[in-house]
Amino acid sequence: MEALASFKKELSSPKKIFITTHVKPDADALGSSLGLANYLLKKGHDVTVVTPTDYPSFLNWMKGNDSVLDFSRNEHQPLAKRALGEADLIFCLDFSVLNRVNELGEMIRNSDAFVVNIDHHQDPEDFADFRYWSTGAAATCELVFELIEILGDKALIDKDIAECLYAGIMTDTGGFRHPNTTKNVHLVVAELIEIGANASQIANWIYDSNSINRLKFIGFAISRRLTIREDLQTAYFAISKKDLKKYQSRTGDTEGLVNYALSLDGIKIAALFSEREDGIKISFRSSVDVAINKFAASYFNGGGHKNAAGGKSELNLKETVERFESLVEEHKSELFDQEPVSAN
Ligand code: 5GP
Ligand code: MN
Repeated sequence: MEALASFKKELSSPKKIFITTHVKPDADALGSSLGLANYLLKKGHDVTVVTPTDYPSFLNWMKGNDSVLDFSRNEHQPLAKRALGEADLIFCLDFSVLNRVNELGEMIRNSDAFVVNIDHHQDPEDFADFRYWSTGAAATCELVFELIEILGDKALIDKDIAECLYAGIMTDTGGFRHPNTTKNVHLVVAELIEIGANASQIANWIYDSNSINRLKFIGFAISRRLTIREDLQTAYFAISKKDLKKYQSRTGDTEGLVNYALSLDGIKIAALFSEREDGIKISFRSSVDVAINKFAASYFNGGGHKNAAGGKSELNLKETVERFESLVEEHKSELFDQEPVSAN
């Protein structure tokens, strides 16, 4: 494995390291970035973590959060650009196509640094010098754990690193419920708990930090913004900018909403359309036997995992949902007539 050998060589002396992850980072994106950053700092490297956008405040407990630069903030951008320009190594975590990091994508493509991609999404773009990638992994945090182990440094994983990694595995498996919850997932989290990760505390930080506005927003969305098309085994939410404003929605407030649609009996495809400044953002979820990532890639300029994907649309909200309904109708035989196989 030549690439692994060059990667190890890169890390054998102190380096300037730039770590980034996808837009609107979730617990796996931020947890893998900060888990890795804390490890590399212990190894004596100079590390900067840059996110393309902000992320939910329920992730702020992670060690290193206070030093993260948000590229979308004017006051952070010059520092982030400098760190990228000076980097010897760039780590791209939890994404595998460069358009997932906005303007940073082209800067990374044009960089002379050694680029590492650690990820578990399908259909990776070929942009890295070393890729540690597996769609069989439930989370990028699981891969970061493995990579630290491969580097012979498992003993350097402390409680703070373990908690960052645990968080990503917990959320990317839907709280150890999705079909990606493998034996390896449990073996890894068992080790993380042994190291000191506090499982119930992390669940509490992430899942039990709702504001009353968020709960009211969820109630409103379920009662007023949910469309159920039983004939298409499909249910979706369409949330306007005005709705988000009315409930003073903050980053992360729509997270998990789409799962309520999928939890309905008889529903195999769920979607959440939310109207944002730069167009309609879409979250897709599907039951195990439907490959929704292919649908997201073919019609909504997106992708992701087999049963959890995302995409975007430049049409308005109403046109987007109409297009979605007619596409499901048109492609229902391919969507629903698949052999049940395991996830990812
Ligand atoms: P979510 O609905 O939670 O935002 O995203 C679900 C999954 O799909 C995540 O793994 C996320 O990384 C991926 N995803 C979301 N939006 C996009 C997109 O626009 N393009 C691609 N390739 N993947 C996406
Ligand atoms: Mn992930």
